[in-house]
Amino acid sequence: MSDAIIKVRDVSRVYQQGDIEVHALRGVDLDVEQGEFTVLAGPSGSGKTTLLNMIGALDTASGGRVEVGGTDVTALGRSAAADFRMRNIGFVFQAYNLIPVLTAFENAEFVMLLQGVSAAERRNAVLPLLEAVGLAAEKDRKPHQLSGGQQQRVAVARAIASKPKIVLADEPTANLDTKTSAALLDIMAQLNAEHQITFLFSSHDPQVMERARRIVRLDSGRVVADERTAEP
Ligand code: ADP
Ligand code: MG
Repeated sequence: MSDAIIKVRDVSRVYQQGDIEVHALRGVDLDVEQGEFTVLAGPSGSGKTTLLNMIGALDTASGGRVEVGGTDVTALGRSAAADFRMRNIGFVFQAYNLIPVLTAFENAEFVMLLQGVSAAERRNAVLPLLEAVGLAAEKDRKPHQLSGGQQQRVAVARAIASKPKIVLADEPTANLDTKTSAALLDIMAQLNAEHQITFLFSSHDPQVMERARRIVRLDSGRVVADERTAEP
């Protein structure tokens, strides 16, 4: 298992809420191999978002170790963590974090722009994706001219356009209708199959769980089940 692209070892995270200590993660161990399509499931408050934040180098563990693609992300400083994220990880988080002054197209190409990818290559990557998520006609609109679901689809296009090694998606279908969710999941499954991109979702959407090859269940900050499903 030592070649796992994500290695989480005995990770804990304690938040201080006033006088109260909240144990969001309590000794989580998890290995994810490259190319896996995994869902983190579990009730609200079970630690799904916290765990994705640790793996994405957005937050630091209180204890334990997180290795992503051979890098010990628990040891990265702020700017090294930002650089690491830009080069390795596509994020689809619940606050879509789109840049308000940029169009849908410009938001979707933004990570590739930071990476120094040429304009032609960015176009070739982004236009088919926007089309696939049903936003070809909206590509020149800014986030405030898009619905919540449309903004979320732009965020998905942005996360996957650069074909990162890993995509972390925190409840990516939470605000989407069934048809749009299915379209997004199709695109992600295709990228997963063609480019061995590793997908790690958090979700309690049955549609997402159905597509997963592996379901890791969290409860009260612990992994309580880890099941591989048959090929969908
Ligand atoms: P999930 O994503 O499964 O709903 P979270 O990871 O968001 O769970 O939260 C796990 C626990 O940690 C919850 O009890 C939550 O209230 C707490 N928590 C999460 N983030 C913070 C924070 N920034 N400050 C204090 N408590 C937090
Ligand atoms: Mg959450």
